[in-house]
Amino acid sequence: MIYADIVIESGVRNLDRVFQYRVPDALEAKACVGARVKVPLGEGGRMMHGFIIGLSGKPSIAEERIRDLASIEDAPPADRQLIQLAVWMHEHCDGTLSQALAAVQPVRRRVREKTRTVYTAPDQQKARAVLEESRHYKNRAARVRLLEAVLGRGFVTKEELSGSLHISAGTLKPLLESGVLVSSSTQIVRGRHTYNMVTTEHAVLNAQQAKAAQEIKDAVSRCRSDWNTRDGVHLLYGITGSGKTEVYMEVMDYVLAQGRQVIVLIPEISLTPQTVARFRRRYGDRIAVMNSQLSDGEKYDQFMAARSGEASIMIGPRSALFAPFSDPGLIIVDEEHDGAYRSETTPKYDAREAAIERARLAHAAVILGSATPSLSSYKKASEGTYSLHTLTCRAKEGSALPQTEIADMREELKAGNRSIFSKALRGAMEETLQDGGQIMLFLNRRGFAGFVSCRSCGEVIRCPHCDVSLTAHSGGILKCHYCGFQMRMPQRCPVCGSPYIGKFGIGTQRVESIVRREFPDASVMRMDRDTASRKNAVADMVTSFSQGKADILIGTQMIVKGHDFENVTLVGILAADLSMHTGDYMSTERTFQLVTQAAGRAGRGSRPGRVVIQTYQPEHYCIQTAAAQDYEAFYRQEIQFRRLMHYPPAVSMLQILLEGLDDAQTEAAAGALHARLQRAGWRDPYLLGPVRAGIAKVRDRYRYVLYLRHTNEAVLLRCERDIQHYAAAARLDRDIYFNFDMNPISPV
Ligand code: ADP
Ligand code: ZN
Ligand code: ZN
Repeated sequence: MIYADIVIESGVRNLDRVFQYRVPDALEAKACVGARVKVPLGEGGRMMHGFIIGLSGKPSIAEERIRDLASIEDAPPADRQLIQLAVWMHEHCDGTLSQALAAVQPVRRRVREKTRTVYTAPDQQKARAVLEESRHYKNRAARVRLLEAVLGRGFVTKEELSGSLHISAGTLKPLLESGVLVSSSTQIVRGRHTYNMVTTEHAVLNAQQAKAAQEIKDAVSRCRSDWNTRDGVHLLYGITGSGKTEVYMEVMDYVLAQGRQVIVLIPEISLTPQTVARFRRRYGDRIAVMNSQLSDGEKYDQFMAARSGEASIMIGPRSALFAPFSDPGLIIVDEEHDGAYRSETTPKYDAREAAIERARLAHAAVILGSATPSLSSYKKASEGTYSLHTLTCRAKEGSALPQTEIADMREELKAGNRSIFSKALRGAMEETLQDGGQIMLFLNRRGFAGFVSCRSCGEVIRCPHCDVSLTAHSGGILKCHYCGFQMRMPQRCPVCGSPYIGKFGIGTQRVESIVRREFPDASVMRMDRDTASRKNAVADMVTSFSQGKADILIGTQMIVKGHDFENVTLVGILAADLSMHTGDYMSTERTFQLVTQAAGRAGRGSRPGRVVIQTYQPEHYCIQTAAAQDYEAFYRQEIQFRRLMHYPPAVSMLQILLEGLDDAQTEAAAGALHARLQRAGWRDPYLLGPVRAGIAKVRDRYRYVLYLRHTNEAVLLRCERDIQHYAAAARLDRDIYFNFDMNPISPV
């Protein structure tokens, strides 16, 4: 007799446990982990859907209390793996089993085909002529985009216009009126299209690229029979522009030739038409794409194409990992250091770890690629847990890493320069404009930088216990977000006595007006959250900047990723320091990544690039190593700090966030949990807090946070389960919510 462990598909919390059912003899052949089933539940025997997550030969409760399964649906291998992945996710992350099941099935439900409006060009020649003419006008970027899309694959849908293409009615109308485009209604259009631009030319790999690709291919074939972490997980560390994408594609060719499939994860922000087009040119229709702008129906179509075998490559952000491929052979995680790989909603899984687990289940390989690997991945690679492959030079003929220069803003102040531009940056900007090059000015505005620093000597006020910067709060109080240490805001710098001490910050808008005033002849474009929220904005700006229609692009981290502007020869980093002091242990790593990636935008074409990094702490190793584009030197220093201060990845760190409507009650609950943990033997430095969270209140809920640290993550996971039981009671009596996050990557 076989018994099946079943999870019921339901949002109801008290159903979130495992139920055992008997598998009737007639259904035995179909029973497997991952299969969807129907079972009777409760007194009334209401039929519910569920999944088999385990099978055994023994009943776990009295035989007579176990009921029979009603039916079993056929389970394709993809589903079996995904259900196993959900079980893993439930064991390693927060949340319930049904939440984990929902996460691995982002597009489950069949979406009814609706009638769609599509636009086509009845006369291709005419449309092409209009397209070519429009290219000459600065303000026709949207029209160019629309016509390129229509001509590229025959039609665009109405949803795409307002969604991924960012086309307004004002752009469409004249084209319809002049008959260049016509609209029609159709029912058969699905989210997949025919592309006929596939090329077979590709770059010949250089020696380093070829070596990396060959080693990974060899490991892929070993994984097939015998999976281990070293053969299964590859860190491809290659400087900006070193040709990582070409290496991915070489390995993809190999895997696809074996009839296996490939998943490519990209942070949403880099999921630009530019990036996708590059894969399209090589793989055409074999690609399915996921992104947040697709409608539910389109997402469904993309996933169905993966299931049916019509597509063999899935490209997209996090959720693309759950593409229902039957035999994935390779999972690529591009820009693996990116914070977007961490889910912000429950279950708060890390897509890199989930990718490795899916690869293990499927006997596939994972490539983690980055110019600035996360400390945790590089640690594992350098210790030999993962395989490490390194690309040290730019791939394109004639392209070299840019020359970097550090501008010491303290010296500028001493010399009487109070402007936002150092002498060096201003000079470089003037020269670049004269030479006809383009400039990117990057303003680092990551996190809630509420730190206090001295403009004369660069000193930043830090917590004496945790070595993170203190954060300014109302009433002139500075606080540590880990241990709760507080002090009054000093009037003068404790190191040099200068009165130029205070909160640090400048906005992009102010930078824009200063640039316009100081460089009146240059044309300026600004890309930040404000200007990008306007429809059409990002795509229009990217297109017109790459066509040379502005001299200077000012932006936040948005301009750092995904765009390859050939003519940018100068990158100015205005305030490298801003992200260095967000009050959490990751701030230095994030700063290194941002500065290195921003600098990497310069000199992507054949003209040499130049970078000026402005900072108040030029001697800081983060700035020094970023300027030298020396990741390994950065890693050596940073990992030492993490070891010394007991921060991940030297240890694991569990963040426990309590939220409640009543401030005093929430604080008391955090105190009670702290006492309970102390009774269980947790002590400083393994138990930290409780303290008021950095963002003290969200949606009317007050927030307090505690941290637990341990070298063994399993201990923390057990502790989390234990607290969850305790939390269930607290939630009932006092309306306090507990949130858990393992090795958090941003301040709360
Ligand atoms: P990364 O992903 O490491 O930033 P890319 O793969 O985007 O680098 O490559 C950067 C540029 O170099 C691209 O324009 C690419 O076409 C070019 N490139 C890559 N490999 C080669 C090669 N072996 N020979 C010539 N050009 C190459
Ligand atoms: Zn000072
Ligand atoms: Zn502290």
